[in-house]
Amino acid sequence: MPASAPKVGFVSLGCPKALVDSERILTQLRVEGYDLVQTYEDADVVVVNTCGFIDSAVAESLDAIGEALAENGKVIVTGCLGKRAEVIRQAHPDVLAITGPQDYASVMDAVHAALPPRHDPFLDLLPAPRRLGDGEIEGVGLKLTPKHYAYLKISEGCNHRCSFCIIPSLRGDLVSRPVDEVLREAEKLVRGGVRELLVVSQDTSAYGVDLKYAPRPWGSNVYETRMKALCEGLSQLGVWTRLHYVYPYPHVDEVIPLMAEGKLLPYLDIPFQHASPRILKLMKRPGAVDETLERIQRWRAICPDLTIRSTFIVGFPGETDAEFEELLDFLDEAQLDRVGAFAYSPVEGAAANALPDPVPEDVKQERLARFMARQAAISEARLAAKVGSVQQVIVDAIDGELAIARSMADAPEIDGLVQVQDGREAGLRPGEFARVRILGSDEHDLYGEAGAV
Ligand code: SF4
Repeated sequence: MPASAPKVGFVSLGCPKALVDSERILTQLRVEGYDLVQTYEDADVVVVNTCGFIDSAVAESLDAIGEALAENGKVIVTGCLGKRAEVIRQAHPDVLAITGPQDYASVMDAVHAALPPRHDPFLDLLPAPRRLGDGEIEGVGLKLTPKHYAYLKISEGCNHRCSFCIIPSLRGDLVSRPVDEVLREAEKLVRGGVRELLVVSQDTSAYGVDLKYAPRPWGSNVYETRMKALCEGLSQLGVWTRLHYVYPYPHVDEVIPLMAEGKLLPYLDIPFQHASPRILKLMKRPGAVDETLERIQRWRAICPDLTIRSTFIVGFPGETDAEFEELLDFLDEAQLDRVGAFAYSPVEGAAANALPDPVPEDVKQERLARFMARQAAISEARLAAKVGSVQQVIVDAIDGELAIARSMADAPEIDGLVQVQDGREAGLRPGEFARVRILGSDEHDLYGEAGAV
C-alpha cells in the first residue's frame, strides 16, 4: 500500500485578488501531490491566506490564525498581513512560517519544511507540473471559484497614493504581468471550462505603464501590454470578459467601442470614491468631476447597455454638509447602476489619519444611510427599466426549480442575480449561457423565465 498523501488545509480570507493568490498556491500544492482537506482535524498542516487591508480584516485574519492554531497547531501564514510579521508574531508566536502576498515559492518552501511532499506518479491526479518561467505552472489551476468563472490578475501593486489606502505600502508600485503571459493563462482557463474572465488588479487602467506597454507575441498577432490590447486579445477567446478596478482616465474611452461591438462585457467597475473636487484632492485622486460626468455620457452614447459599478467613501475627514450634497447630486446625474459605500474609517498607517476635522461617527452613519437610500432608488429604477427585455445570462447554480444566473450587468459575488423561475424545467445548467425574458425586478435582482423567450 502506498503511504497516503500529505494533507493540507487552506483558509482563504480577503478580496478577489487574494483569492487568485490562493488559487495559485492550491494549484501548486495539488500538482506536488498534496491532498487538500476541508477540516482542521484531517489536515497535517494549515495555510492561512490573510488580508491586511483594514483593521477589521487584520482582526479577522488574526482570529483565523488563532483558530487554526487551536484546532490544528501547525500553521503557515501568507497574504497581505504576512507583510506585517511582527503583528502576527505578537499575537501568535507559534506559527510555523510567515510569508507575504504573491510569495508562492516561500509558501511552498514552508509547506515542504513542515510536510515533505510524497510524489507518486500513479496516485497524483494531475501530471507533474511543467514550469514555464516566473514560477508559472502549466495545467489549469484548481480554483476556489465555481468552475465557469475565474479571476485573472494582470498586475500587482499600485502607483497611486490615495491617502486612505495602505495597499502601495503593503504591495509596492505597479508591476504588470506581460500581456502574453496573461493571455496564455486566460487561454488555459478557457480550455479548462471557464466562461467568464474577471480582470482584476489594483488599477486596471494603468496596466503596462511600468513595462512601457511592451509588445509581445500571442497566437499569430502581437499585442501591446496595455488595457485595450489585452481586451482585444481576451476577446479572441469567445468568453465573457469583465473589467474591475478601472481608474476613470481618458484612455478608458478606448475600450468602450469594444464593448459596443460585443467583444467585452459592457461593464465597468470604477471606484469613484467621491465627487467633491476638494475631497478628491484630499484623497489624492483625480478631481475632474464634470469631465467624469461628460465621459460617462459619452460612453453611454457609444454603448447604451453599459453598466457602471462604483464604490464611494462617505464621511471622509473634513467632508462638509455641502460636499456631501455634491456627492448626492453626482449620484443623481451619473445614474450609476450599482454602488457600494463605506463610512470612512481610519486604516493604520494611512496618510488620511493625519487630516483635520474628522466627521463624527453619528454624522458618518447618517450620511451613509442617506447616500444608500438615494442610490437604492436609482438602482431600482435602472433594474425596473429592464423588465420586458431579453437578457443573456450565465447560470451559476440550480436551486430547486430555480436557476440562479447573472446577466452581463452582474459581476459574481458583488452584484445582483437573475432568478430564472423555470430554470430546471428549461434544462439550464451551471456554466451555460441562456436567454431569459425579464418579468420583474427589485433593488438588487431581476426575475425571469427562460421558457418565455
Ligand atoms: S488606486 Fe488608490 S485605493 Fe486603489 S490601491 Fe492604489 S492607492 Fe489604494
